[in-house]
Amino acid sequence: MNTNLNPEKVVKDLRYDFHTFSIDRFITHVGEIKKREIISIPWTMPPTLFGAWMSDDEEPKEYIFYRDNVPLIHQVHIQLHELSHFLLGHVTLHINRKKIANVLKKNTPLPFTELPRLRSSDKSELEVQAETLAALIQKQVIKHSNLDQLASDLSSETKLANFLKTMGLS
Ligand SMILES: [Zn+2]
Repeated sequence: MNTNLNPEKVVKDLRYDFHTFSIDRFITHVGEIKKREIISIPWTMPPTLFGAWMSDDEEPKEYIFYRDNVPLIHQVHIQLHELSHFLLGHVTLHINRKKIANVLKKNTPLPFTELPRLRSSDKSELEVQAETLAALIQKQVIKHSNLDQLASDLSSETKLANFLKTMGLS
């Protein structure tokens, strides 16, 4: 875990052209820079959680789960927040294709409840860092006048269908 990353530097190092911001394009770009495929999935989250990032321990993949029953602008914000946890190298849960397929088949919950325990020692500090970075990214989008893109994304249905296909489950 690297908690000393400067958020301004993290954004700068991404070398992303904020004139062309969309959450999907941004996530794809971050994945290319970090050499990890980042898969963002609308999800029915437990009541206490808006989103969760989980790292694949077998393949170069990161999964971002986000609450699907909030307005789009909030869905985009949650994805930026979780992406920020990833960019800052925070501690997180590990998962893999087999575990996710199991969850989907048996209709059991993902191990969301283990996440707060994992980060409990410095939870508020990590949350402040993730929020600061997410806000900084949003500021860049606003600066380049792509305000409408903070509230637009593919529909949850399309994304979920794509995800199930990736998992070989549709
Ligand atoms: Zn968080």
